[in-house]
Amino acid sequence: MTTLHILGSGSKGNAFAIEAEGGTLLLEAGFSGRELERRMRAQAIDPASVCAIAVTHEHGDHARGATRLARQLGVPVVASGGTWTALARGGEPCEWQPTGSRGPAVVGPFTIEACPCPHDAAEPLALGVRVADGPSLAIATDFGRPTQALRFFLRERHCLILEANYDEVLLRGSGYPAVVQDRIAGAGGHLSNTACGMLLAELHHAELHTVVLAHLSQRCNTPEVAARTVAAALERTGFRGALHVAPQDEPLGPITLRAPAQRVLL
Ligand SMILES: [Zn+2]
Ligand SMILES: [Zn+2]
Repeated sequence: MTTLHILGSGSKGNAFAIEAEGGTLLLEAGFSGRELERRMRAQAIDPASVCAIAVTHEHGDHARGATRLARQLGVPVVASGGTWTALARGGEPCEWQPTGSRGPAVVGPFTIEACPCPHDAAEPLALGVRVADGPSLAIATDFGRPTQALRFFLRERHCLILEANYDEVLLRGSGYPAVVQDRIAGAGGHLSNTACGMLLAELHHAELHTVVLAHLSQRCNTPEVAARTVAAALERTGFRGALHVAPQDEPLGPITLRAPAQRVLL
């Protein structure tokens, strides 16, 4: 059985944990090492079961505790070369396992795939995780517009963790200076609830069973507005799965990720 734990998500920090076959993959480590351990224990995840820490990019809200916890647990950080170089500069010495242009990384039961993500960081990625005979999941946050490559990468996943950062009306009434508003809403900024809903409607397929809305802005969004906007877009596609909104301050889960239905060959 494969389970997903949302340890927390938002501009103050992002982290998810996937458990399969006795191993745990930490996906993002945007809290301090101590806070990550606290949140794992709150979810009854044994830190000793962690086999790797995969991060999309070096920004603090995604990788704050990555190198410290990796060193402490004796596990590799899985990241692009650019992200690793940026992390190694100020981080604790630990092992690196590349993913991205060099192909997927394999750690324990997890195969970690990657796709470039358009964002203002060294070499940011969207990440995909496959478990043998189990579900396939992908996470993409911190991008303003999905590229064709990203759309292709996210298709046919059973679980999608996608950014729903802001509501257009709440952003324009947020009190942020216009230049900041435009940066958030720009191609290199963040994905709005509406854009997230449109992307999910495009990616919808019969075996998409779990959607997690992540990285919500505290100032320009609310869980209710994000869920309502995306649910309306997904309902039109016939989506019958579970829609979760990732909380910032406390963990959520475990969420069981169903294995894909066996294809019967006649
Ligand atoms: Zn970022
Ligand atoms: Zn971020």
